Order: sequence, then C-alpha cells, then structure tokens
Amino acid sequence: MSENSGLETKWARLRENMVRSQIEARGIRDPRVLRAMRKVPRHRFVDAASLEHAYEDRPLPIGLDQTISQPYIVAFMTEQLQLRGGERILEVGTGSGYQTAVLAEMGGEVFTLEIHEPLSRIARQRLAELGYGNVRFAVGDGRQGWPEEAPFGAILAAASAEAVPPALLEQLAIGGRLVLPLGVEHQDLMMITRTAEGDVARNLLPVRFVPLVHG
Ligand code: SAH
Repeated sequence: MSENSGLETKWARLRENMVRSQIEARGIRDPRVLRAMRKVPRHRFVDAASLEHAYEDRPLPIGLDQTISQPYIVAFMTEQLQLRGGERILEVGTGSGYQTAVLAEMGGEVFTLEIHEPLSRIARQRLAELGYGNVRFAVGDGRQGWPEEAPFGAILAAASAEAVPPALLEQLAIGGRLVLPLGVEHQDLMMITRTAEGDVARNLLPVRFVPLVHG
C-alpha cells in the first residue's frame, strides 16, 4: 500500500467514526445528508495546524478569525433544508467551503457568498480540486443575497445577524426554507419556511456562530 492510500484509509476511518458518533447518534436521519457527510473529506478543509483534529466534534480555526463549523451543525442545518436534489441553494459565509461541499453533494446548484476575498479564493480552489462543478462563488456582503440568481429554494447562513436580512427573505422561493443563526449575545438557529400563505418561523436550537460582518 502506498503511503498516501494508507493515509486516506486513516481519514476514511476517522470520518466514519465522526458520522456514527457525532451525527447519527444525535439523530440525523436523512440518508442523503449522511451520505454527503461520509463523502466530503473534512481534513482537506482545515489548516495544516489543525489537521489532526479535522474529524473532532468542534469548530476549528481557518484564519482571519473565522472557523469551519462543527460537523454536527453542518449536518443539522443541511437536514433542516430538506433538499430533494435540483434546488438552487444560496449559502452566506463560504468560509473553508466545507458546508458548501456538503450542499453540493446534495445535488442542485450552490451559490456561495463570502465577504473575505482570500477565504473565497482558497475555498474555490479547494472545491475545484475536489471536482465540484455545481458551485458558483462570489465575494461580497451576503446580507444582500445574490439578486441576479434569485429565487432560491434554500438559503443557509453560517454567520449570525441581529435580524433576518430583508434581501435574503425576498430571495426565498415559495416552498423554500431559510436556515440562519439569529441574535448577538444569545443566538438561536432559526428556520423560516415560505408558503403561499406567508412565512412561518421556528426556533431550532441555541448555537454560537461568528457575526455577519457589515460590508
Ligand atoms: N460554513 C463555513 C464556516 C463559515 S464561518 C465552513 O464550513 O467553513 C462564517 C463565514 O461567514 C466566515 O468565513 C466569514 O468571513 C463569513 N462572513 C461574515 N460576514 C459575512 C457577510 N456579511 N457576507 C458574507 N460572508 C460573511
């Protein structure tokens, strides 16, 4: 066995453990989400200094004071979007691109916005190397959404706002779902479902995300 394939076996084993003990054990059931979490190589998304911790149950630093989200939170938010494949998905806060890759595994097309140009550039290179063709990247203030590509069947924000940015609500399709952390001191993960009769908001769980930076 080459050194490289031995290493890949090690990462695959750690990834399988991550899915079983952190994700399935906590109640994530959507088979498509589980398949995506089993596939995306999280160790390719972390800094060299954090490599050994890539599959642990926590966020990790990715530079510029930002973090790659905890695996369980990535799986939970993805499951909440109830993707069936084929949706146009807007992501606010590309970061390392890990959540982006998980969304890309769910099919459809992903449009991802990041305010820090270097993070966007690195994530774009990484996803190209990993062969994801169904992702579009842009640098800018995600609170404005991506009006040219709206409406979106699903919107996910990975940084928290005091109030739901109106542009994101406007760009949500009927039948679509928006998942985002809301709050400053105390944050809750919220889901807003858009129906023909109006929007329904639900509080999912307390979380801790970095704040959305004002562009
Ligand atoms: N889901 C990412 C982690 C995102 S952390 C991952 O898996 O790696 C939140 C990200 O949101 C950071 O990269 C931060 O730079 C970005 N961000 C903060 N404010 C933003 C804004 N107004 N518009 C777009 N991105 C923003």
